[in-house]
Amino acid sequence: MPKNCKHEKWCKDNFTNEIPIGRVEELYDFLQGKLPKNIEIKRPPHLSEAMAFKIIWFLQEQTQVLPDHFEKCQTCGSIYDTRQEGNITHCDICRKD
Ligand SMILES: [Zn+2]
Repeated sequence: MPKNCKHEKWCKDNFTNEIPIGRVEELYDFLQGKLPKNIEIKRPPHLSEAMAFKIIWFLQEQTQVLPDHFEKCQTCGSIYDTRQEGNITHCDICRKD
């Protein structure tokens, strides 16, 4: 959201936090070179899982255009919604607590 947004909380509640996990997974996949079926580009990015998530993290924490409740599981590498499952480091499948 823009830094000068006068409706910062409204934007976060009604826009940023409503971005579905599927869109974040699509970005995560794209950054690793897995393109959606409707896209063809020459030389797509080929980042590692870790590098791809660093970009998502930047968009969450610095620019705040993505919600910060999505995390990458440290064991299986999948993206999960901490509001729905898992803890701060692991998805429900991989968590051991
Ligand atoms: Zn996992």
